[in-house]
Amino acid sequence: MAASSGRPTSAGRGEKRVGAMKRIGRVVGLGLALIVLLIVVRATWLRSSPAEAPPAETLEVNESRIARQLAAAIRFKTISYQDPARLDTKAFAGIHDFFQSSWPAAHATLKRERVSRWSLLYTWPGLNPQLAPILFAAHQDVVPVDAGSLADWTHPPYGGVIEDGVVWGRGSLDNKANVVVMLDAVDRLVRQGFQPERTVYLAFGHDEEVGGSKGALAIARLLEARDVHLEMVLDEGGIVVQGFLAGIDKPVALVGIAEKGSVGIALDVESKGGHSSTPPRHTAIGLLAAAVVALESHPMPVHRGGVSGGLLDGLALELPFYARLVLANRWIFAPVLNVVFSRVPALDAMFRTTTAVTIINGGVKENVLPIRARAIANFRIHPEDSVDLVVAHVRRVVGPDVKLEVGVRSEPREPSPVSPIDSNAYRILDRSIRSVYPDAVVVPYLVVGGTDARHYYRVCDNVYRFSPFRLGSDAMTLVHGTNERLSTKNLVRGVRFYARLLQDIAGAAQPSSE
Ligand SMILES: [Zn+2]
Repeated sequence: MAASSGRPTSAGRGEKRVGAMKRIGRVVGLGLALIVLLIVVRATWLRSSPAEAPPAETLEVNESRIARQLAAAIRFKTISYQDPARLDTKAFAGIHDFFQSSWPAAHATLKRERVSRWSLLYTWPGLNPQLAPILFAAHQDVVPVDAGSLADWTHPPYGGVIEDGVVWGRGSLDNKANVVVMLDAVDRLVRQGFQPERTVYLAFGHDEEVGGSKGALAIARLLEARDVHLEMVLDEGGIVVQGFLAGIDKPVALVGIAEKGSVGIALDVESKGGHSSTPPRHTAIGLLAAAVVALESHPMPVHRGGVSGGLLDGLALELPFYARLVLANRWIFAPVLNVVFSRVPALDAMFRTTTAVTIINGGVKENVLPIRARAIANFRIHPEDSVDLVVAHVRRVVGPDVKLEVGVRSEPREPSPVSPIDSNAYRILDRSIRSVYPDAVVVPYLVVGGTDARHYYRVCDNVYRFSPFRLGSDAMTLVHGTNERLSTKNLVRGVRFYARLLQDIAGAAQPSSE
């Protein structure tokens, strides 16, 4: 007793320690249990707002006719070159005549204006001037075919060959198919006597592949000058992909709600020249190489919110529970996601500003120390970053001895604004996609390349990027690549999609109170 009322024995201290540790253990255990509960609850509660099943679109479309029309469009060599003097004006004049003769009903009803000579703006006036107009965009121009790749083409790139239900050629996918199916859908609706409630514009640029400044930008400025504010713009940029992600069997319809910016930054290192027999520890080339290594090993940060978050939430719903658990709890699993995603370049590009060192120069002679060395890195900028943030990052990573030149080969381009996914326009778009692809999961995503769509933010908030075609996960190699092609089934779905969307967004059921 005396012992216990005085200084505690070592056994008593031990018991107290054990007791304290038990209490800590209980608190930690409770905390962990709560975290696990929260993780499971978040994964379970992740639900899409119940979307009603749209009526399946079964419009009768003449498959071989629409295929022949795309094939004919491919034969016009409407190629964009960096040097505008090389533009084949006969090809553009020819394709304009071809549009007119192929879809006479559309051309009799819609007003057609030429913008910067070769871009086209069609206007289909709406019955209700209170309603904001919509605009569907596509481009007539194509990229040149690399002469070295000609032998690898199964069919000539401008031959417009149709074989076994596939239309082959440059522009079949990017982007003449969109022009053809849009005109066909409009022509069909005109013949059926459909009259849009809101004004419908079709805008077909002629220089998308070289920046779109004379085409889409000029059209957007023209609309702005006319005080037009659009309810929706729909351009290329997303598709329906089969096999988008392991674990998702359904086709995924990617709707681009933003596109990345771009900046080229030159890294210049200078050092004293001299004979190679008495070199410093690092030559200009060595210093530059170290800067390049530093850049590659310090990528820009990953973003899991905003436009990236919408994609992850949309995909999470379709994944097995364990994967949903991770995606729905990015607050705790970020390190896991970073490791997994950074190994897949296509995924990595959607969640951060990418770094690509693309050009390097330095040195003139084997026995002469180089006076200067230069590398150029191209950064594709995530909407949550900016040109300034990229420059600051590079500055920090390469240190003060490397000089930077920003925008060295082309004007820096900021990322686009992010279009909302809670707009009426997005909901209708989502519905129209599912009327043609009933099993598709529609998700918002970030377009990593550039499109004409970015020019339209000056006249529209709801700018979306989606082409109604279902492709394999290798689709991106076809765009601008060898053996570009599109199935005729996709053309049929394309006509059905635009016809459905036009009726849903511009049809008689529109509220006039906007
Ligand atoms: Zn394109």
